[in-house]
Amino acid sequence: MLALLAILGFELGYHRDLSATASAGFSKDARRIIVNANLFVDVKSAVGLLLRRKSSPVYDQHFDDCFSLADHRQRWSETEHRIVGTHTLDSAAPSVMELARRLGSAHHSGQDYYAHSNHVEHLSMNGEVEPVTHSEIMTEARFTTIRTRWQTVGLMSGAYFEQPPDIGTVELHHRTLNKDKPLISGEYIYDGRLDRSTMHDRALACASRESERLNSLAAEHHPEAFKALATYRSGLGERMLEIIKYWFARSAATISGHWR
Ligand SMILES: [Zn+2]
Repeated sequence: MLALLAILGFELGYHRDLSATASAGFSKDARRIIVNANLFVDVKSAVGLLLRRKSSPVYDQHFDDCFSLADHRQRWSETEHRIVGTHTLDSAAPSVMELARRLGSAHHSGQDYYAHSNHVEHLSMNGEVEPVTHSEIMTEARFTTIRTRWQTVGLMSGAYFEQPPDIGTVELHHRTLNKDKPLISGEYIYDGRLDRSTMHDRALACASRESERLNSLAAEHHPEAFKALATYRSGLGERMLEIIKYWFARSAATISGHWR
């Protein structure tokens, strides 16, 4: 299980930092719940992979096996639904704690998109160096431009279980299309023009903006609960549980060498 954590996206320390920064205006207890909900997407995914469960978060909370605009759009809308709560089983008026959980989990998907897609490489290849959020890139025209400009590989996210179609001999999958790993390198798809550490920094910058955007979405749809995040206080039992959860996730990631 620990080894599986290795291949799930940004290393967990980055996820922690991104969500903690995006939650800077919230109370310490709220921040802890958000960070944990973020980290536990990967913990649950590792368990799901181990048990080979088709309904694990690795399938529905990660941008994987997305090779078309429709695939990407669907995953983004699922990510947003988790905050807005438009599924019939979700409460339309979440408690403050529930909203914090939804935010952390959605942050994770939004952040991983940039770690596990070639989004920033595309932006850079097209001469745009500023972080751009998904909503700015996800238009039909833009997608087509990208595919045409970079003919062998369109915009895609890491393929967890299968190789994407039509990419020839280029090996792109969850392990190689990963901003934290040295495996994805300029030499064979990026023409030597884009270096990995710059791509990593850009992915982090995009992920940071994405987390803020998801916060805005929460503020827009659940204004009362969102406002209450600033002063939220957990009960003692709840706080202890969150502290234990944090150290469990952090230790598992550290032992497997993937805290940062
Ligand atoms: Zn992940």
